Amino acid sequence: MASFNLRKIYKMFDNENETKISADALEQLQQWQLIPREGQYLCAQGHALRLLPSSAKLDGFIWRCHQKSAKGKRKARTCSVQISIRKNTFFYRSKLPMVKLIAFSYLWIKNVPQDFITEELSISLRTAIEWSNCCREVVYTGMNRIGYQIGGAGSVVEIGESEFGRRKYDSGRGVEGQWVFGGVERGTNRCFLVPVEQRDKETLLAVIKRWILPHTTIVSDFWKEYHCLRDEGYVHLKQNHSINFKNPQTQEHTNTIEELWRHAKLSMPQHHRNKKVLSEHLAKFLFTRHCKLADLDALNVFFEMAGLSYNPLSPYLDIREDDIKEELKEE
Ligand SMILES: [Zn+2]
Repeated sequence: MASFNLRKIYKMFDNENETKISADALEQLQQWQLIPREGQYLCAQGHALRLLPSSAKLDGFIWRCHQKSAKGKRKARTCSVQISIRKNTFFYRSKLPMVKLIAFSYLWIKNVPQDFITEELSISLRTAIEWSNCCREVVYTGMNRIGYQIGGAGSVVEIGESEFGRRKYDSGRGVEGQWVFGGVERGTNRCFLVPVEQRDKETLLAVIKRWILPHTTIVSDFWKEYHCLRDEGYVHLKQNHSINFKNPQTQEHTNTIEELWRHAKLSMPQHHRNKKVLSEHLAKFLFTRHCKLADLDALNVFFEMAGLSYNPLSPYLDIREDDIKEELKEE
């Protein structure tokens, strides 16, 4: 699929009136599984809902059931369920035109500064913050779902830890940062980053086993907790980069991980208030790198993730009672 840009997004929605979505946009939203296709979506009685134009509603469409029960009965029940096209979807929290939400997501993925986005899309800062939070959650959940591992036999992975968000003041006192444990595969630059509360052997070994395939050659600095790696099926080469940049025996160095810390920290906002927010920012960094290395269109991947996270067809999301209006009609 060709990659997206702002011009293409606005062209896809193709109308002056931002509140009604075009057929092209609808098709794309269905492809991302952000909106179900007709035939997939059923009312509580099991009838297939139809997606019908509705001038009164946001987006210009509404799900509707007009199923009538079989003839011959004295009272025919006409099911007249109506469900908003946004119900239980990625868009349900917002009343903004859909084209703006898609454009916002695109600009957010591109790390465009928030004040530019609010001005360009004519939205409030509050809306921008709320929508950024939604976007971060999508990427965080999506990246966890992908659950990739790096390394493998013949691969070299550098591991290490770095403190994020530490701030020093003139008084000499500062704000404690959050420790992040990470690894990066030489040659491919595939990586992982995990905030950790504890930096003991059990915690770090669990992270290593989760993210690095067995038989990988792991390069780290001389830290005692890594001694056990050999017992876990890894090859471990040690490097003390505070003394030598290269280990004179093995010629192994750990500069790839230093690059990773530098890039990851540059991509972060200045303050990390808590572990959850930091985790989400790290997930965005990993998401961006994942798309780039795999040559994937980030917007496409993003909305596929959103479609999986918010699926109105999911059995876990029940249609609420207030959305169902059933009428008894005399035939
Ligand atoms: Zn029905």
